[in-house]
Amino acid sequence: MSSKTSKFQPVLDEIVATLRPQLGQGGKVASYIPALARVDARQFGIALRTCEGEEAGAGDFETPFSIQSVSKLFTLTLAMQRMGDALWERIGREPSGNPFNSLVQLENEQGKPRNPFINAGAIAVADRLVSQARASGGSAKTDILALMSSLCGEPIAFDDEVARSEADTGFRNIALANFMKSFGKIDNDVETVLDTYFNQCALRMSCRQLARAAAFLCRDGAHPIDGEPEVTGERQTRRINALMLTCGTYDAAGDVAFSIGLPCKSGVGGGIVAVVPDRLTLCVWSPALDATGNSLLGMKALELFVTRTGLSVF
Ligand code: GLN
Repeated sequence: MSSKTSKFQPVLDEIVATLRPQLGQGGKVASYIPALARVDARQFGIALRTCEGEEAGAGDFETPFSIQSVSKLFTLTLAMQRMGDALWERIGREPSGNPFNSLVQLENEQGKPRNPFINAGAIAVADRLVSQARASGGSAKTDILALMSSLCGEPIAFDDEVARSEADTGFRNIALANFMKSFGKIDNDVETVLDTYFNQCALRMSCRQLARAAAFLCRDGAHPIDGEPEVTGERQTRRINALMLTCGTYDAAGDVAFSIGLPCKSGVGGGIVAVVPDRLTLCVWSPALDATGNSLLGMKALELFVTRTGLSVF
């Protein structure tokens, strides 16, 4: 590992040793696309990066996986960087209390998604990024790859097979995008917006890379590697963490706040990023999911981590 090893290494080793016997014993791997359905459920990785730039990792922390909705954290960051408060004209900031791909609230709320972390909200964010990129003759997908690669300090890529499958089977996301468009809440053509969304879901990264990429969230927005230029300002960073706590794990957010007490963002690839503000950023990964679409062992690992270290925002 390039950075200095953190004093938290023994805690991560202990979590892997505790959870290893439970691998493959509960939960279900996402099966809506073949590339996710064939992932071996008996994998578990955990990594962290401290504010000081020390890193630690255990288990399968170097194995790349499909980050899926964890990507929504980074596209939100990009949109907040570029648009500031204007972003909130199109997207709310309230927990949805519904599954991540639900359509029901959109009709009552005239096509304005509850928050940027449900699928409808992330698609609306992608639309904003497409508009911003177009205005400068660029592409939102290129902007996303540039942000991720800069945050990690190494090249990050989309998994083309996953992106294609997302598009082939994404009927609900296609419905969400068209529904918002019918309310005048999507500016660009639905195909381009969804191509951006499906590709961001198809980013492939390891726990080590994600812990590093999200490290600006425990550093008041300072870039994980260089510190300069900042990724987001202190105020925006606080807001991203608040949204992760209230909306980052969908209809499990209340339970996650109760049992873990950290801002978290999860994805159906089994990854979860968690932040201890002013201390460190963690990433856990295990592909088998619980009924809310969050990693079963990932949540257990975070609970063990806060119990063992006493680190929580509460
Ligand atoms: N690609 C998935 C979807 O759009 C992402 C959902 C998730 O990770 N929660 O439904």
